[in-house]
Amino acid sequence: MDEFQFISQITQESYRQAHIVKGIGDDAAVFRSLGEDLVIAVDTFVEGIHFTEQTLSPEQLGYRVLAVNLSDMAAMGAEPRAYLVSLVATKKQDQSFYRQIYSGMEGLASKYGIDLIGGDTVLGKELAISITVLGSVPRDKARYRSEAKPGDLVFVTGTLGDSRAGLQLLLDSTKTCHLPTFSSWEKSLIARHQKPTPRVDFATNLRPLKRVALNDISDGIANELYEIAGSSNVTITIDDRCLPISDELRNFPRSLRDEWKLFGGEDFELVGTVAEEDFPFVTQIGNKLDVQVTKIGTVSYNESGKGKVFLFKNGVKKRLKKRGYIHRSGDSNDEVKYDK
Ligand code: ADP
Ligand code: MG
Repeated sequence: MDEFQFISQITQESYRQAHIVKGIGDDAAVFRSLGEDLVIAVDTFVEGIHFTEQTLSPEQLGYRVLAVNLSDMAAMGAEPRAYLVSLVATKKQDQSFYRQIYSGMEGLASKYGIDLIGGDTVLGKELAISITVLGSVPRDKARYRSEAKPGDLVFVTGTLGDSRAGLQLLLDSTKTCHLPTFSSWEKSLIARHQKPTPRVDFATNLRPLKRVALNDISDGIANELYEIAGSSNVTITIDDRCLPISDELRNFPRSLRDEWKLFGGEDFELVGTVAEEDFPFVTQIGNKLDVQVTKIGTVSYNESGKGKVFLFKNGVKKRLKKRGYIHRSGDSNDEVKYDK
């Protein structure tokens, strides 16, 4: 592809953010911090590992790679401002394929008022996209996973396991030779995989809170809770009956639901802990923004339980397995049995 022409096609006519002094078109972009704390994250997607052509269209791919980064901003309580894209392009695809990827990104970027301010383009053997996102928070208002304290309540936004179920439906559909037709509940799970909603507004609306620990669910809630428990040096206990799942997910057998809600990953919901007296404020923000907020557990402290997570289920409290979602899209090991 013609790199020069491609870059001119994806360059925005104007920038939305006052932070952008210089965007695309020089050796580097210039970002003015306006007195706030800068928050920076990067995420990389590689074809065959994180996605396949069968599970994501180019537009959805662009949307999703950016959404994952915005979810990291949400988990820090930050407002995203701008992003840079490092693209490893292959000869397999033409320029219009890459334009569609950028159009997927722009669809989400315009929704959040953020700007594409630079990137890099190289030719390679496998398609890979890496996005660096810049965001900001008022001084000292970044939200850390190390902020959980004994006595806190644990909450989660939205529902768990939907994205994994959606991925399964897509993977299964690629095994048949005819065009798949999906029912409406199946479509809704697939949308949760292809177009997740980063919870940026929810997180920034929690600003009045003095303290909240936040993490976003990329590898499954079990893994994210371990991260909070570990960096905060506390014990977290969650109640299986409280874990929110969607009506759509109930179409799958219990064993899969139980697996996916804890270890499924990629829902990009937020999990957090707050002081009990602050929980009504969190639910109020959820109501205001139409984001479901569910209390799922509590934080405690004892010497032997430091950094551990327990699951209360069927009247017994057991150590929750510490494992996360392993990315291996398209791998034949992904086979799972269920009756639709
Ligand atoms: P340099 O050679 O100085 O690094 P490039 O020719 O690679 O600059 O890039 C020119 C401009 O285009 C820069 O502003 C760069 O950030 C931007 N750019 C290059 N590739 C991409 C891309 N894939 N996505 C977005 N911006 C890009
Ligand atoms: Mg240069």
